[in-house]
Parts: sequence; C-alpha cells; structure tokens
Amino acid sequence: LSQENQDILSAHEWLAKLYHHLLRYTKDGKEGYGYLQDRGVKDESIDAFQLGFAPNVKDFTAEFLKKKGFHQQLLVKAGLINLREDGQISDRFRGRIIFPIRNHLGKTVAFGGRATIGDSKPKYINSPESELFHKGKLLYNFDLAKKHIRKKNEAILFEGQMDIIAAYQAGIRNVIATLGTALTEYQAKLLKRYVNTVILCYDGDRAGLDAAYKAAVLLRQSGCEVKIAHLENNIDPDSFIQTYGGDAFEKEVIKASDTFMSFYMRFLKKDFNLNHEGDRINYIEKVLKQLAMIDSPIEREYYVKELSKEYGISIDTLTNEISGYREKFG
Ligand code: ATP
Ligand code: MN
Ligand code: MN
Ligand code: MN
Repeated sequence: LSQENQDILSAHEWLAKLYHHLLRYTKDGKEGYGYLQDRGVKDESIDAFQLGFAPNVKDFTAEFLKKKGFHQQLLVKAGLINLREDGQISDRFRGRIIFPIRNHLGKTVAFGGRATIGDSKPKYINSPESELFHKGKLLYNFDLAKKHIRKKNEAILFEGQMDIIAAYQAGIRNVIATLGTALTEYQAKLLKRYVNTVILCYDGDRAGLDAAYKAAVLLRQSGCEVKIAHLENNIDPDSFIQTYGGDAFEKEVIKASDTFMSFYMRFLKKDFNLNHEGDRINYIEKVLKQLAMIDSPIEREYYVKELSKEYGISIDTLTNEISGYREKFG
C-alpha cells in the first residue's frame, strides 16, 4: 500500500471512531442518535456497525483531521471534504448518519451518509471511488458475514445498509448488500467462491424487481444457485422486519423465496397484459423458451404442469413446443 493510501485508511479509522463516539455519547450526535432510535436501531447494532454522526458544521472534519496531522489535500483526494473553487472547504458528510464501509479485511475504506431529514436530497451519499474503494468490487458487511455465509452455504443479498442492520437485529448474519448499485460480474464471481446459493432480497418496487432479474442472471452465469425473495410493492427487507418481525421474515420471505423459473414467470408478467389473448400467448412462448434451457426433465415437467393448469393448454402441446426449442438451441 502506498504511503498515501495508508494515510487515507488511517484518516477513515480516526473519523469512524470520532463519528461513532459523537453519535453514541454526545449532544453533537443527538440528531443522529434520535433518528436511529426512531427507526428501531439498537445500541448494540450501532456499535456492531460503528454507526456515527457527522455534525452539521462546515469544517468540523477538516479541523479534526488537520489537528491529527493530515494534509487538507489528502482529505480532499479521499473525498472526505469538498474544496470549492473559491478555496472554501466543507465536510462531505456533514449533518448525516455515517455508515463506515469496510472492505473484506475489515478496513474502513469509505463512508456512506444518510440524511436525517426525510426529504433532504440526496437521501444517501457515498465516498467517491478511489484506489481503496471500488463500489463494484465491495460488498457491504462481507467482512462480518463471511463466516456465516460459509457455514450456511447461503448468502442473502440486500440493496442497502438499513436492510443489513434490520436482519442483524433479527439474528440473521449471512447478509450482504450492494449499496444501491447493480451487482457486478466481479461481485458475482466473488460470491461464488464462498457460497453455493444466493438469495436475492431486493425491494418490492419496480427498480428492485429489475435489479433482481439482472443480478440473478449474473449470479447464474457465475455458477451460483439463485433464489429470489418476494416482497410486496413499497416494502423493503428493513420495513418488513420492522413491521412483521424477524421470524416472519425468515418464514414468509427467505424460506418462501422463488426459484429462478418461478421468479422469471412473475417478472415477465409485468410486460404483458395477460387479459389479452395475444399477450397471453406471447407470454407463454417466452416462458417456454426459458423452460427449454432447464436440463432437468423433472423440473421442466413441474413448470409445464403449472402453466398447463394456469392457462388451460395441454401438457402435450407445451412439451412439444419445449422440445422444439431444445432441438433448435441444442
Ligand atoms: P432507507 O431505508 O434509509 O430509506 P433504503 O436502503 O431503503 O434506505 P433505497 O432507496 O432502497 O434506500 O436504496 C438502496 C440503497 O441504495 C441505499 O441503502 C443506499 O446505499 C443506496 N442509495 C439510495 N439512494 C442513493 C443516492 N441518492 N445516492 C447514492 N446511493 C443511494
Ligand atoms: Mn430501493
Ligand atoms: Mn430500500
Ligand atoms: Mn429502507
């Protein structure tokens, strides 16, 4: 590691400790502490994730780190403070709840910051990309989750930090998140090295559904078995757990998650109006094409029966169609 990167790591370590201390024990962090309490985050989780608060003072961070001997230039480069053209500085994360973002070795390489006021924009900001922090290579909470993921041979993938914390509080530890960005091929391959099965548990909105489809395809390409959890619209894992509890989450969401094929059938429906005959036929054709790619005859038959029941088409017709596709694609 270059001297500069070592210094940047050290600055993050100091700051994570400071922000955490402020949140947990001081008046300066009250705004953040109150916010987390209102959202049901317990002290133990605040400590486990080293959550913090950056006071809403323009140069608080800069002054603190300068006193520790860090150069302003370095802090700008690390994205901890913003330097305006007129030479004025301002702390990037001021007035925000701080989520230290650790790499797989447990080193804090970046921060995420959430606004404490519902409608302030943007809701979250992250540190910029750097030599130490590549969003597309890092999985949030991987350092703590790794051993649980290995033990269960199963990982649960969420969108965000608050989902992770809610699961943690429910005693579910094999959880990681992509921090709102699309899963990358790199991350999919990384996961494959540790685990056979990945359960995708994205938000129950259109964005979450689309992201889950893309992530599922990548994970399957990397050789993982994928299951996809189903949440109702406007629900995310955090809000589900806060409303219905951790047991319900495990039973009704995680254990009940769909196979890729069932998910795909649900996913496709959004593009079709199944009350229209033409749409219905197109939909069935698309499902059959996907079904043709399944190698297990037992699995194929299972879905063929489902389709047959749901759309009143004979099993023979559906099976013949699939055979046709299988010959065509080899
Ligand atoms: P909360 O429950 O605090 O509202 P969330 O995790 O439900 O947060 P989502 O809108 O579902 O928020 O976004 C998922 C994740 O995407 C967030 O946890 C955050 O890491 C990231 N994210 C959300 N909004 C932004 C943004 N404006 N800029 C950068 N990252 C964002
Ligand atoms: Mn979302
Ligand atoms: Mn969400
Ligand atoms: Mn949420």
